[in-house]
Amino acid sequence: MSTETNTVATYADAKELLAVIQAQTGGREILDPATGELVGRAPEHGVADLQKAIAAARNAQRPWDAKGHDARRALLNKAADAIEANAEALAHLLSREQGKPLNGPNARFEVGACSAWLRAAAAFDLEPEVVVDDGETYAEVHYRPFGVVGAIGPWNWPMMISVWQLAPALRMGNTVVMKPSEYTPLSVLALIHVINQVLPAGVLNVVAGGRDVGEALTSHEGIDKIMFTGSTATGQAIIRSSADTVKRLTLELGGNDAGIVLPDVDPKAIAEGLFWGAFINTGQTCAALKRLYVHQDVYEEICQALTEVAGNMPMGVGLEEANVLGPLQNKAQYDIVDSLVRSATDSGARVLMGANPQHDATGYFYPTTLIADIDPQNPLVLEEQFGPALPIIKVESIEQAIELANSLDVGLGASVWSADRDAARKVAARIEAGTVWINNHGAVDPRIPFGGAKSSGYGVEFGVDGLKALGQPQVING
Ligand code: NAD
Repeated sequence: MSTETNTVATYADAKELLAVIQAQTGGREILDPATGELVGRAPEHGVADLQKAIAAARNAQRPWDAKGHDARRALLNKAADAIEANAEALAHLLSREQGKPLNGPNARFEVGACSAWLRAAAAFDLEPEVVVDDGETYAEVHYRPFGVVGAIGPWNWPMMISVWQLAPALRMGNTVVMKPSEYTPLSVLALIHVINQVLPAGVLNVVAGGRDVGEALTSHEGIDKIMFTGSTATGQAIIRSSADTVKRLTLELGGNDAGIVLPDVDPKAIAEGLFWGAFINTGQTCAALKRLYVHQDVYEEICQALTEVAGNMPMGVGLEEANVLGPLQNKAQYDIVDSLVRSATDSGARVLMGANPQHDATGYFYPTTLIADIDPQNPLVLEEQFGPALPIIKVESIEQAIELANSLDVGLGASVWSADRDAARKVAARIEAGTVWINNHGAVDPRIPFGGAKSSGYGVEFGVDGLKALGQPQVING
């Protein structure tokens, strides 16, 4: 039974939460990617539901703005409290729908990030900036809400990415209409249900529809800004469909992050960091390490150390506490990983582990795969695999690694691994990516701006810069 404290319900488990958010009649079956079992039935919202959600958001926006920053900060912190009070129920539902294990950098970690990002968005100071004050001219920059923000998300980190989008939008004084991925609607509906217990009606709305609803959202005149996280192809479609209404866009798109290992590293000491850089969320992460360039002097040792670490990471059904790697979320993604690994093995690349999936087994499990001695132009290197398969490319020089890292049209993250921080920073400055980590890969932080270079998108999320991206700069001159 759920219990009520200060009007926030605490659900004992995922089943109770599901009973409130899933379709009461009909709906679309959502199956567990690890077991094939029914998780629940998602409501099938259409464009008419979207119209209602946008109208509700527009009605709620002025009163929400009028509350002021301090009241909104307090409510975002209350929303974080509500998530923390329901953390286990949310993590179990997320694990079943998305497939990710409870433990490791997975479901519990993701739910924890939701409250952390809400609290960070509440904490930022946003004072008007005085840009000129010289006795003759006085000019300040203020940030005003745009109005209604449309947020469209992917299936890999459905709860956390929703919060990345909604937290700064709400803090700024916008209201929000969310459109979750059709693969993971239940996780987002549950999260929004929990948050909405503390927010005024109409401020945060969710429409669980498909691509047609996404398309309608991006061209609708009632939407002022789009926050989008997903593939580059969809991002390009959104640029086109939002053009007529001149919408503001923040686009976090696909990546194919490079890691560069310098010859001075201690391979055993960095192997676990490299592993999780690549295999976080079983590789289904935008800013995961997806191609590893290793200097020839330490190549064999890195291959060996990574294989040892990877061999100790159990993969299986997410609700079993021992597991830290899970299935691919859906069949389409499983097929992409399978075909890219096949292109590597067909080319004669060396399989250090994995690459031998059991296609008839239950669940979309693809074995943890490490591929060495691979041609830098192989499709497994050039294309985003978004799964548990890492190509390890031998390079003769750091110059060659930098050239290969920069040779693709994407640039979300990258990493440089070295015992010498200054040397690593010099290499980092030459990499075309939105973030370059040193001796780490993919560590995001709500205080630090994050965004892509090249076709990985534009605009930043997180930090004060990410908050400002949800506001219209307004100059008061005089
Ligand atoms: P996707 O682009 O297929 O779908 C994302 C969302 O867009 C879904 O909600 C979908 O319904 C919606 N959509 C589809 N077509 C649309 C259209 N024409 N107009 C509006 N909305 C539309 O992406 P995905 O497969 O869910 O996610 C995987 C991709 O996302 C990977 O490429 C990954 O790198 C990227 N990603 C990027 C980041 C980042 O921060 N840069 C984070 C996570 C994922």
